[in-house]
Amino acid sequence: MGGTFDPVHHGHLVAASEVLESFALDEVIFVPTGEQPFKTDRDVTQAEHRYLMTVVATASNPRFTVSRLEIDRPGKTYTIDTLRELKAQMPDTDLYFITGADVLPQILTWKDADELWSLAHFIGVTRPGHELDTSGLPEAGVSLLEVPAMAISSTDCRRRVAAGKPVWYLVPDGVVQYIAKYGLYRRGSAKVDDFS
Ligand code: ATP
Ligand code: MG
Repeated sequence: MGGTFDPVHHGHLVAASEVLESFALDEVIFVPTGEQPFKTDRDVTQAEHRYLMTVVATASNPRFTVSRLEIDRPGKTYTIDTLRELKAQMPDTDLYFITGADVLPQILTWKDADELWSLAHFIGVTRPGHELDTSGLPEAGVSLLEVPAMAISSTDCRRRVAAGKPVWYLVPDGVVQYIAKYGLYRRGSAKVDDFS
């Protein structure tokens, strides 16, 4: 499951858990993005913070792991490169790519879209406010799954923190504490490079 995870929230976790169970997967690997080709409109939080929040959020689930694959890759990251790398690492593993209804229609615009379907099976999950639209996507390569509706977005979480509102119960407790510890998303908070 790829994502910016800025921050990771319970919508991500419920979707991952539901897909894991429904498709009898062994494991869900969360892959926080490095530099995002399609998110150049705002300053994305440092990859290391997003990675660590995802680790904190998933630590208690033995079937959830987090990969540094994209954040450690220099330059722009593309899903196709990640899938190729995962396939090379695990040639005998069937890969599934979990994505929300908002992202599904964009996939056709991704780099080397035609090859994506041969590397992984795509699972589109429902998301409140977004219709599941599979037009143009190859029927064999994509499955759809209704997951419990969690009307949570990272954008809303960031706005809430900036406005001094709580994000308890929208994100895992450890992530609430991580955000407070590093002063993430606060209005006017300087973009400090905590990891250099
Ligand atoms: P932002 O508001 O910054 O775009 P986001 O909440 O959409 O953040 P992403 O990191 O962009 O989170 O999402 C990663 C993946 O998780 C995407 O495929 C997205 O569609 C999916 N997703 C995010 N929130 C939900 C949710 N509440 N229910 C189901 N899927 C979700
Ligand atoms: Mg999003």
